[in-house]
Amino acid sequence: MPPDRPGDFVQATIDLGAVVCRPRNPDCLLCPWRDACRAHAAGTEAARPVRPEKAARPHRLGTVYWVWGEKGVWLVRRPDKGLLGGMLGLPTSEWRAGDTRPRLAGAWAGATLNAPVTHVFTHFSLDLAVVRVHIPKGTPDADVATAFGEGFWGSAADLAGLPTVMQKARKLAEEGR
Ligand code: SF4
Repeated sequence: MPPDRPGDFVQATIDLGAVVCRPRNPDCLLCPWRDACRAHAAGTEAARPVRPEKAARPHRLGTVYWVWGEKGVWLVRRPDKGLLGGMLGLPTSEWRAGDTRPRLAGAWAGATLNAPVTHVFTHFSLDLAVVRVHIPKGTPDADVATAFGEGFWGSAADLAGLPTVMQKARKLAEEGR
């Protein structure tokens, strides 16, 4: 770098990268650095720059509960922090790598559908087992909240506003597949 014109040097380097030494199809014949270029000497221009391999998207598993009864479908407000933060959703287990799906026992066990929900977020992909749980008439809401988290019986309008991954679970649960 010439000590008296560092700015021009940097700008020229940027221009060279934009116009001549492009990431694809570098124009080596026109390049002022050709004689000093090790990639050109080795014939490896096309392989430069070496791009880091993309990390594989992690995969997570979990369970989503379709808890239904005469008063509607049980919905919970997701924690403010984290994915889908603050949004309404169906109750779920935590979403983790590996098969760590907890199952509720006894009266709350429900029936697991054959098809899981599959969804891809920016940073991970997700499989959610869908469990339908019918709440018998007369069951105290407090018991439902204890099993599935504080929530309320959602209406059709509430369900219509659920995020995409929850809509997928809703569709499967309503179809009973
Ligand atoms: S000679 Fe080297 S620096 Fe010049 S365009 Fe080709 S690869 Fe890029």
